Amino acid sequence: MRIDIVTLFPSMVESVLAESVIGRARTRAIVDIRVVNLRDHAPGKHRVTDDYQFGGGGGMVLKPEPLFAAVETHRTPGARVILMDPRGRRFTQDVAQGLSHESHLILIAGRYEGVDERVSESLADDAISIGDYVLTGGELPALVVADAVVRLVPGVLGDDSGAARDSFACGLLESPQYTRPEDFRGARVPDVLLSGDHARIARWRRVQSLWRTWQKRPDLLETAHLDAEDRAILEKFRLGEIPDAIVSSGLAGRASGHLTDRRR
Ligand code: SAM
Repeated sequence: MRIDIVTLFPSMVESVLAESVIGRARTRAIVDIRVVNLRDHAPGKHRVTDDYQFGGGGGMVLKPEPLFAAVETHRTPGARVILMDPRGRRFTQDVAQGLSHESHLILIAGRYEGVDERVSESLADDAISIGDYVLTGGELPALVVADAVVRLVPGVLGDDSGAARDSFACGLLESPQYTRPEDFRGARVPDVLLSGDHARIARWRRVQSLWRTWQKRPDLLETAHLDAEDRAILEKFRLGEIPDAIVSSGLAGRASGHLTDRRR
């Protein structure tokens, strides 16, 4: 997979892409991520990339010429061009999953008051928002999208099966995780996780996932893939029956305050 990030601040983007999982995936050539300096594509001696907006109103707008030139220079057949835009469709794990099957993404980071509308109209194939808030630029949104997509590319994570258990991957929040020590300041790791009984562990994780989702993100339950057993467990939650798996992990007590808040 290849990803190009078009930006006025290449060093800001490069520094993040050089580190950790993405940095290693680049070094091992599993993904090809390129940072495109928008200024290199601006015409004239002064390489101007922005200008005042027609109709008045404060703030500058990114000009279309350098953005079209940058994309047209780097585009490959089949590339998908995505504008980072608070007005775009909301970025979710499903969107990341879909994008992870593309061969080439070009992510455009806007700046200032935004981007000349002709970029949305006839250059970008898509516009993505990472949430209902406005940032100073599209670099962080582009990095968020690149990170979420790249970790879904086979071979990028050490253990690809981990991604399948992640929050949102199956429509639910992930169950709690523990590592050593078994006892930390009196808080013990749930016995089931030390039992070596994989079927019990899987069931415990499922109940925990359902509980967390029911407590914190009940909206996700409307679209999650649930079987009859899941539905029976959720029905117990609704009736106020808290399964042993939740009581023994100590989550019921912690969650009850949240539950009260949510119902208030
Ligand atoms: N005036 C624009 C508006 O109200 O929609 C906001 C412009 S913002 C200050 C500058 C750039 O940051 C945008 O063009 C976009 O590329 C990026 N940006 C800011 N917030 C974003 C978000 N939530 N999702 C995606 N991109 C965002």
